[in-house]
Amino acid sequence: MLFGAVVRMDLENNREELRRMVASLLRHVERCDRAGIRFLPRSQPSASEEKVAEDLLEGTEGNLFSDYAAAYRAKSLKELRAAIGDCRRCKLWPGRAHLVFGVGNPQAKLMFIGEGPGRDEDLQGEPFVGRAGQLLTDIITKGMGLKREDVYIANVIKCRPPENRNPEPDEVDSCEPFLKKQIELVRPQIIVALGKFAVQTLLRSKAPITRLRGIWHDYHGIKLMPTFHPAYLLRNPGDKKLVWEDIKKVLKGLRAPAA
Ligand code: SF4
Repeated sequence: MLFGAVVRMDLENNREELRRMVASLLRHVERCDRAGIRFLPRSQPSASEEKVAEDLLEGTEGNLFSDYAAAYRAKSLKELRAAIGDCRRCKLWPGRAHLVFGVGNPQAKLMFIGEGPGRDEDLQGEPFVGRAGQLLTDIITKGMGLKREDVYIANVIKCRPPENRNPEPDEVDSCEPFLKKQIELVRPQIIVALGKFAVQTLLRSKAPITRLRGIWHDYHGIKLMPTFHPAYLLRNPGDKKLVWEDIKKVLKGLRAPAA
């Protein structure tokens, strides 16, 4: 089943890469148009023309054709992190202290996915390290009897949105390919999606988390359990029992033989 999921993801990656190449080419044409360039040079460009072209291709919108290709080709999390580099593919990059990639066991059976870095995560460069992170660590260690290093933890968005606002659709569109590749490389048996934003993004659903949580969903052949975000639990401790119900299902799922 996991093999089937990986093959499906590869096909999707190819389609996604083609779509992004076309989008990247269109952005490039638009930038050329804005810069007053209407024709491609027939002869070898001069040094000054090359400089203009370099300036056009650099910047917040990424490089032509190289936006995601290296990330899609990555064979390990280390290669993926290198491919992401000093990412400027969306408008969140200027506000970040750190790009928060992900942490944990690269072969984890269990992966937790949240929304995006908050202030503490941005400062420390690691997901779920603030108060909400401590609660997640308690769920993993005290609740599940695992170590934080046994699981893999990542977010949909790798850079902190200003004032912790929800990520915007163009930011998700720019960053989600990295998460998809992380999932493909870790190949977890189970994903726990934390909070409304991560759940709705991963499941492509607008249904409220109260309807989605507590039941198994399919994410490209991987079992996905939505539950409340630890930050929500800090504000609503009465709902901890619901999360514990979800986590018990996850523990049972982890004990079941992989399909
Ligand atoms: S949020 Fe993602 S796409 Fe945007 S700059 Fe950060 S790493 Fe790049």
